Amino acid sequence: MTIHNQRLPAQLDSPPALEPEVAEQSKMMTQRRIYDRPGPENRPSARPRVVVIGAGFGGLSVARHLARADVDVLIVDRNNYHGFWPLLYQVATAGLEPESIAHPVRAIIRKYPNVGFRMTEVRHVDFEHKQVLTDSTPISYDYLVLAAGSANNYFGNDTLAERTYGLKDIDDAERLRNRVLSAFERAISESDPERRSTLMTFVVVGGGPTGVELAGAFIELIRHVLKHDYPVLDVSEAHVVLVEGMDSVLAAFPIALRRKAEQRLQTMGVDVRLQTLVTSVEGDCVTFKDGSQVRAGTVVWAAGVRAALLSDSLDVSLGRGARVRVEPTLNLADHPEVFVVGDMAYLEKDQNGQAYPMVAQVAIQQGKQAAKNIVAQTFKRPMLPFRYVDKGSMATIGRRSAVLDAFGVRLSGYPAWLGWLFVHLMALVGFRNRIIVLTNWAYNYFTYDRGVRLITGAKECD
Ligand SMILES: Cc1cc2nc3c(=O)[nH]c(=O)nc-3n(C[C@H](O)[C@H](O)[C@H](O)COP(=O)(O)OP(=O)(O)OC[C@H]3O[C@@H](n4cnc5c(N)ncnc54)[C@H](O)[C@@H]3O)c2cc1C
Repeated sequence: MTIHNQRLPAQLDSPPALEPEVAEQSKMMTQRRIYDRPGPENRPSARPRVVVIGAGFGGLSVARHLARADVDVLIVDRNNYHGFWPLLYQVATAGLEPESIAHPVRAIIRKYPNVGFRMTEVRHVDFEHKQVLTDSTPISYDYLVLAAGSANNYFGNDTLAERTYGLKDIDDAERLRNRVLSAFERAISESDPERRSTLMTFVVVGGGPTGVELAGAFIELIRHVLKHDYPVLDVSEAHVVLVEGMDSVLAAFPIALRRKAEQRLQTMGVDVRLQTLVTSVEGDCVTFKDGSQVRAGTVVWAAGVRAALLSDSLDVSLGRGARVRVEPTLNLADHPEVFVVGDMAYLEKDQNGQAYPMVAQVAIQQGKQAAKNIVAQTFKRPMLPFRYVDKGSMATIGRRSAVLDAFGVRLSGYPAWLGWLFVHLMALVGFRNRIIVLTNWAYNYFTYDRGVRLITGAKECD
């Protein structure tokens, strides 16, 4: 309504008087246009409207590549920020402030006049009527891009979801940081040695990059920082266990780098348990498939990933991990105007039964291709299939150590760590964030300290 009022005076001022019938028809058309084809932020527009669900790596890439196109783009996200998830584990381990790995979406899109933003939760998509159903008003589209990312996969074991900590967004990371620091606060007043040791035991389930980085950062936090904060506690009672179902960590890396990563974790003091599957978590008792058990105050689930829960509510064909099956051109076979990119999309590489990995580069490159194919559709030109340029992978294993496999170069140790620092710093969105992260890293590196070890929000008292 406000929007109508803002626009109407200017529209009424200039045009000459119309015949009543024509005026009525014109009014109806204008109203329909305002309702059906709103511009980026509900302004009337005759241009096609592209709605992008998700302001992550994929969604922002779509918007960026449509910024000069003759379309209006509306990004919809439940949060008002873009999160840089590769550094999330550093928030969970008190190395970085949450704000330093997130950037407001409105600040990112400010330079794109045809891109708008709406903060709301998307619940469903009505493909037939081309409407996105949200917690607020429905949003109509001409083209839709689903880029809602991923969620933890508990493989149908709902109790794991209730009893373990996830690491998927900033709220998760803050919750985990609070939990770890609270565990030490409780341990200091615990007289029973067994109970104290349980409080100081952290189990990370999943030996992928997230699990490896988290386990390394936990042990460093304990050995270098909390040791000094709690001088009366014997930190040798603290225990970090990394559990992996396969016979090595970092399965996507070459075998030599995997072994280096395992050795490094063990040297740091992480208890790496390979070919070990978690069957249940009851209270503080973690039970493995071979019947053995570990008592741990905190269990983190980094063992499985699936598409965002939104995919469950869509009437579309799903591949492994509930990811939405797409054509090589990244759109749905039945709805060519609907594209899916990033973690949510299921597209097999070379029909070899393996989908593209759920990593940032895939999301960014798919976002670019989806944007190009939307423009192709508006010009009724043929669309092109997605082609992935693999820029390699890297994972850090604590201070001064990482593994890197890119463009045929395989590195481990300090040089790989420097490469990791550089790539992650440059990939962060926002100059301010880069400065804050760099300052924090330098401070942590030279002082062995972590400045962000605050217990905030709801306190954990159990
Ligand atoms: C802890 C962690 C570490 C990682 N480390 C690396 C790494 O080192 N290197 C790497 O390449 N990749 C890494 N990844 C994976 C990488 O972050 C993802 O592959 C990438 O973010 C996928 O981009 P996306 O756009 O598909 O989803 P995302 O970037 O996750 O964005 C999805 C967006 O959709 C929004 N959203 C979801 N559901 C809804 C809804 N129903 N309504 C409204 N909004 C919604 C979310 O709020 C989010 O902003 C990591 C991921 C995690 C969680």
